[in-house]
Amino acid sequence: AAERVRVSPRSPGELADGTPVPLLANLGSVAGAAGALALGAEGVGLFRTELLFLDRAEAPGVAEQADRYGELLAAFPGKRVVVRVFDAGADKPLAFLRPDEAEPNPALGVRGIRALRARDEVLRDQLTALALAQDAHEADLWVMAPMIADLPEAAAFVTFAKRLGLRTVGTMIEVPSSALLAAQILGVADFVSIGTNDLTQYTLAADRLLGPLGSYQDPWHPAVLRLVKLVGDAGLASGRSIGVCGEAAADPALAVVLVGLGATSLSVTPAALGDVRSELRRYTLEAARAMAMDALSAASPAEARAAALA
Ligand code: PEP
Ligand code: MG
Repeated sequence: AAERVRVSPRSPGELADGTPVPLLANLGSVAGAAGALALGAEGVGLFRTELLFLDRAEAPGVAEQADRYGELLAAFPGKRVVVRVFDAGADKPLAFLRPDEAEPNPALGVRGIRALRARDEVLRDQLTALALAQDAHEADLWVMAPMIADLPEAAAFVTFAKRLGLRTVGTMIEVPSSALLAAQILGVADFVSIGTNDLTQYTLAADRLLGPLGSYQDPWHPAVLRLVKLVGDAGLASGRSIGVCGEAAADPALAVVLVGLGATSLSVTPAALGDVRSELRRYTLEAARAMAMDALSAASPAEARAAALA
């Protein structure tokens, strides 16, 4: 690989051979937009809408939500802004999307799209607000759903969102079933974005919030990488955009591997943009693919990392 040099935040994410890899920001508030832009974010790859309303007893109305989403889009004129509908449950409880029954295993409970399907008026209001914001601003709004498990769930979401006027609609891939079925899902979704935090938790069956199981939460695990490759291959076959928006993309060496596995854009916490941008410039697509192949055949996260970097 080429030497690591600091790349200006004004230059876009790309590999050494010029392959573009848009570098987007993960945001949980509109206030974070200016900082992300200063660090060279080319747009937003994950806007976690549930974080706007953690303190609310009742669901926010359409007008209020449209204002908030409008402020976000106004900060990114002409740029891609991927907004995720409410991912309530488990580590992010929302009072207005609480499960009806107590859950012994909240990570395996009524969260994400499952909670929204149980309260479809909340989803309708959110998508209506997003469509209003989309029509009032010049940003390129993409909307996606969390915790999608299979094609029927993806198709139901995409159909509902498009009926309400959203133009670009996709899903997260963070449940192993949806990674296995990515080719089917890409038949109805305009794009997917891989959430490596939950994909790792569910692949290794280890709650991401439990300290004693922390060592399982390692996206270098070859089982996780193999699932990412399935999604990447489906992306290549369909020509659709494959994002990664989990923490894995913020690890510069892993970012290169993810691109080698087929990711076409990466979304990271803004502070990580510089290191990822610099690292990507050191490798061609061919080199990234070779690193990915080496990591895939390893037996553990540590071996995968060592093999990729060898
Ligand atoms: C993920 O699961 O990787 C993800 C990006 O979503 P969150 O961390 O908000 O669950
Ligand atoms: Mg997630």
